[in-house]
Amino acid sequence: MKTDSANKCVIVIFGATGDLAKRKLFPSIYNLYKKGKLSSNFAVVGAARREWSNDTFRRNVATSIQESKIDVDQDINEFLNHFHYLSFDVTNTESYTNLNDLITNLDEEFSIPENRIFYMAMAPQFFGTIASYLKANGVTNTTGWNRLIIEKPFGHNYESAQKLNDDLREAFTEDEIYRIDHYLGKEMVQNIEVIRFANAIFEPLWNNRYISNIQITSSESLGVEDRGGYYDHAGALRDMVQNHMLQMVALLAMEPPNRLTTEEIRTEKIKALRALRPMTPNEVDSYFVRGQYGRGIVNENTVNGYREEGNVDPKSKTETFVAGKLVIDNFRWAGVPFYIRTGKRMTEKSTKIVIQFKNLPMNLYYKSKEEMHPNLLIIHIQPDEGISIVLNGKKIGLSGETNPVKLDFCSSCQDVVNTPEAYEKLLNDCIIGDATNFTHWDEVALSWSFVDIISKVWENSTPTDFPNYESGSMGPKIADKLLADDGFHWWPITDESDYTI
Ligand code: NAD
Repeated sequence: MKTDSANKCVIVIFGATGDLAKRKLFPSIYNLYKKGKLSSNFAVVGAARREWSNDTFRRNVATSIQESKIDVDQDINEFLNHFHYLSFDVTNTESYTNLNDLITNLDEEFSIPENRIFYMAMAPQFFGTIASYLKANGVTNTTGWNRLIIEKPFGHNYESAQKLNDDLREAFTEDEIYRIDHYLGKEMVQNIEVIRFANAIFEPLWNNRYISNIQITSSESLGVEDRGGYYDHAGALRDMVQNHMLQMVALLAMEPPNRLTTEEIRTEKIKALRALRPMTPNEVDSYFVRGQYGRGIVNENTVNGYREEGNVDPKSKTETFVAGKLVIDNFRWAGVPFYIRTGKRMTEKSTKIVIQFKNLPMNLYYKSKEEMHPNLLIIHIQPDEGISIVLNGKKIGLSGETNPVKLDFCSSCQDVVNTPEAYEKLLNDCIIGDATNFTHWDEVALSWSFVDIISKVWENSTPTDFPNYESGSMGPKIADKLLADDGFHWWPITDESDYTI
């Protein structure tokens, strides 16, 4: 096991009795421990409202690890001994004094050089308060490093995000703030950079001379489940587009960085986001469409419409689906639309990027009035992970016609590959101080400024056609028109068989 002092730290999880901690954080910490990525000089403090003992906390941590289908070794008790619980009230100064005392004791017990990670796994309205109390009570006053991991949502518009950022910045510097976008922890999202910058066959084609359009789909088959209360105030635009979808756009559109350092990559992503063409309020409806799911059939079960879900206003005008066309005003991308769509209760859970290449200047194989199939590069983000390329080959036989053929590489299908959870990678990055896969404030600010124009227009108009798509479908028909007007169509995410004959 490593004993490098850099990764010796205390991880404080605010909201340690919550869903995120249980489903994602404890299993991720255990995996890091098992893989030797976490020094044995570590401790975890679970802070939450309930009056739990250390034993109760440790039992819950053990259960969450067992339920996450990880192989549990004999050493689980040794691992659990690093976990301590603190009953905590966000706005009570005494809670922070107790926290500081506990961390100081743990530093001594586990020989930790005062390195601290504060993970905000609780409701966003507490983020700013906790940060200022941490500073005011000297919890961040250490000789080691301090890092703050903060969950989404980072504000609900530019103004609130700016206010939250100002609050956080009073206690932490920008370098100390790790804003989680768990999409950036996904293997294939990180692979976008590798595909682009490690393959001589793609990077020369990665521009408006050879690419006709790029499509990003992130669909869910689930509805809002028990998050109706949160979701009805957020909607798909804030929940998915402002963060995950725009982050994927930035990675696809950015210029090659000079080096693969946090600074250089972030600079290029920020430049790409700056090049997004802003819309005037009058233009919003030409570039963005929204939808809300009605009843329908998903996985052979009849499901309720959005307005019938728990904690959702029966007259809600919240969008559960968004599709949009993004225009990037720079030399590389002028004239290449980036289409995005995301929604709940769609046909299936899938995140895919399709890069459609331009047709050749002349089709020598033009027969029976059929267009040649365009070349496609498909990046499968989840649940499958891999890459497909659609090429044209010769149709077997005497006709001399062409056939599209699909070459598949499925990385998640290989037995040898056991993809680490996004949270595991991101926690590890934070422990080693690598902020590349976290969002910089400038990225957050630019994406809110872009999204705010759309949400303002939508807030001030009532959609008359909601619900406008059936559960189990690929969204409303108006999303197809967005592409059809440009002479394109969405490539299927479910049945890709029509890429080949
Ligand atoms: P949750 O409601 O399950 O847990 C909230 C936690 O906060 C609990 O431990 C509770 O005890 C604690 N808490 C609430 N009020 C408190 C107070 N006044 N003082 C002390 N502790 C208090 O929430 P969650 O689903 O775990 O989500 C936490 C954060 O993570 C939210 O910001 C959410 O948006 C974000 N998030 C969650 C998920 C997920 O999969 N659950 C995914 C992405 C982002």
